[in-house]
Amino acid sequence: MIGRFITRLLPQRFKKTPRIYSAPQHNIRADALDETALTVVRRLQGAGFQAFIVGGAVRDLMLGRRPKDFDIATDATPEEIKPLFRRAFIIGRRFRLVHVHTGHDVIEVSTFRSAQTDEEATDEHGRLLSDNVYGTQAEDAMRRDFTINALYFDPETEEVWDYVGGVNDVRAYRLKLIGPPVTRYREDPVRMLRAVRLAAKLGLTLAPTSEAPLTKLAALMRNIPPARLFEETQKLLLSGNAQETVAQVRRYQLLPSFDALLNTPAAERFAAIALAHTDARLKIGKTVSPAYLFAALLWPAVIRDRDANLATNMKPAPAFIAAMDTALEEHAKMLAVPRRFQGIIREIWSLQPRFEQRQGQRPYRLLEQPRFRAAYDFLCMRAESREVPQELSEWWEKFQDADADARKALLATAPKPEAGSSPRPRRRRKKRQNGKIATSA
Ligand code: ATP
Ligand code: MG
Repeated sequence: MIGRFITRLLPQRFKKTPRIYSAPQHNIRADALDETALTVVRRLQGAGFQAFIVGGAVRDLMLGRRPKDFDIATDATPEEIKPLFRRAFIIGRRFRLVHVHTGHDVIEVSTFRSAQTDEEATDEHGRLLSDNVYGTQAEDAMRRDFTINALYFDPETEEVWDYVGGVNDVRAYRLKLIGPPVTRYREDPVRMLRAVRLAAKLGLTLAPTSEAPLTKLAALMRNIPPARLFEETQKLLLSGNAQETVAQVRRYQLLPSFDALLNTPAAERFAAIALAHTDARLKIGKTVSPAYLFAALLWPAVIRDRDANLATNMKPAPAFIAAMDTALEEHAKMLAVPRRFQGIIREIWSLQPRFEQRQGQRPYRLLEQPRFRAAYDFLCMRAESREVPQELSEWWEKFQDADADARKALLATAPKPEAGSSPRPRRRRKKRQNGKIATSA
């Protein structure tokens, strides 16, 4: 009740007119701007509407970083925006916005909107169920999450418009929620994950008032719709600073599934290696497959279950398969990993025991598997975490690139798999020759 009362008063506590910073007062350089975004802003302004670059892009520019994408906010409605562009599509059912396509770029243009804060707009935990009412620019600023995400940049005048003190927070490297933190986290618990992710990614300090409620409100994470939870989890793992982000998520216990997965030193070691690899790849501009990353996070659970199954005298192959099933059922569900990823995850896992089978034609067949490369990278992480011998990943490194003779030589040196370490190769029926069973030479 009190929370709602405060939210209703909230707009009055902030200025209805922005503080305007001119070019010398901020460090956004014109050459860092995206041509397509500029064209879209100009077209809207030319038609008599207000138009600004907004959100993450302004924040990143002010911090001297290259934005991932450029979003635009305007006082034009979707129906007014669409006819201004050759290829523009109104998308979204709940809140409609416009995607303007140019070349291979898509620019998101949204109409200023206000957050609804009346009784019907939230569920019993205070979570906002809708945010689909057009509003003023001041209201649009207020419904955003952090002050530094609520800055509007007009490329024509080179002004930054600030309703919430975001410019000062950027300068202080401070990440601060707009409005009363508990209410704002209750409205949308995903903001807790965003707080941790943005702080780690951008090297910002979470304002003490925004940090204080985190652990206490962590239980609200359970109410997030699965698809949204997965999207956010994926974003935080692919933020380029996954190691730090995951450490913070665990510190505030925002994702209980992380704690459940990483509850042994071996699991921690493996996750640390996987996250470090991910961060390193992203740093040099390489892509990371989310499926690969989730395969890594869930792997310690597979190993744990497989060993537990082996201890009940299950055979290696069924023990491993049952462990993969359990990991996908339990943990992938908790993290809301989509079905299409689960298939790839299982493929990467299924190939692992086959690396230990280095007799006859098996290594050649493994090389031909479409997921060989991902599975081999995965094997290297297992070797690095000392789950399998270093010798194994080194052997495969050589075998991949070797010529036919060198491969034969490598095969001759390959040790037999240790008993119990992997599913046994299926024993072939020996061919009958002249009515007798052939004995192998
Ligand atoms: P990123 O670098 O991850 O893209 P971002 O801040 O741009 O960070 P987006 O998801 O692209 O994140 O969101 C764009 C803008 O929409 C944000 O800057 C913020 O103003 C607003 N926003 C996003 N998520 C929320 C939320 N959960 N609550 C309120 N406002 C939000
Ligand atoms: Mg963004």
